[in-house]
Amino acid sequence: MIQLYIPLNFLGVIYREIKQSLTDLDKMFTLMAREREVADAADARPLLIKDQQAPAVRFDHVQFAYDPARPILHDVSFEIPGGQTVAVVGPSGSGKSTLARLLYRFYDVQGGRITVNGHDVRSLTQDSLRRHIGIVPQDTVLFNDTVAYNIAYGRPDATREQVEQAAKAAHIHDFILATPGGYDTMVGERGLKLSGGEKQRVAIARTLLKNPPILVFDEATSALDSANERAIQAELAAVGQGKTVLVIAHRLSTIVHAHEILVMEQGRIIERGTHPQLLAANGRYAQMWRLQQHEA
Ligand code: ATP
Repeated sequence: MIQLYIPLNFLGVIYREIKQSLTDLDKMFTLMAREREVADAADARPLLIKDQQAPAVRFDHVQFAYDPARPILHDVSFEIPGGQTVAVVGPSGSGKSTLARLLYRFYDVQGGRITVNGHDVRSLTQDSLRRHIGIVPQDTVLFNDTVAYNIAYGRPDATREQVEQAAKAAHIHDFILATPGGYDTMVGERGLKLSGGEKQRVAIARTLLKNPPILVFDEATSALDSANERAIQAELAAVGQGKTVLVIAHRLSTIVHAHEILVMEQGRIIERGTHPQLLAANGRYAQMWRLQQHEA
């Protein structure tokens, strides 16, 4: 028996090691794929924001293409004054999420510039820029690790109490407690599978814990049930209080209070204004609004 036990036990150790390194490799490849696109300038400086005060974000005549043969953004200009919310709407593929990727500097613009408090993002260290931005993506990728690790990702020094507080504010605490291992339950591809809404709540808790002054919400395209959606919207609105927020919206009902709404089509801003102004203009936005009201 012991002869069998030792090799099996050894295999168990190796398996755990391989699994761990695969998990880390997953992360490494994701990060590498993104990091390769841009590099810090030799004289890059850190973004310094006094007292975490919400900064102004500006897109100034931005041009961008993933592939030179296919331009995606054409002369896009807008400003989000510190502490305000700008929402972007438009058909699938019009370039909305690309705006978020450029702000986070996964890619560099090919024309114009993006600034935070007047600093071109290309002049800043990526690390400092990204520390000031929180993204709640459409579809949160969870690491193959515990739910506590997944919430604390972005602020690894957080205490368990802080993690639980963030989870409570994101209304996912009770759900976590009901899982077999509580905060130590493994989640992700190889762990407990979470629904779209639960994953978004983990992302909200993660963002609450990171507490950055700039937020990007990329609304899920896949429909959550309407009670869940309303609850998540209310949580996002609470998280966004006093911050500089870019919302990429699919449902217009969630952005009626935005300070400015940009309507994008084929990489261009074709209309802009507040919800009442856009309705009064009776253009593309008003048409989208009527259509969504009718569907609702
Ligand atoms: P949705 O509402 O469906 O999320 P979107 O308006 O956010 O769409 P983007 O994701 O910004 O659209 O994409 C704009 C265009 O850029 C699309 O035509 C898309 O196919 C293309 N695109 C997006 N990511 C890449 C990439 N990594 N490489 C090449 N093309 C890309």
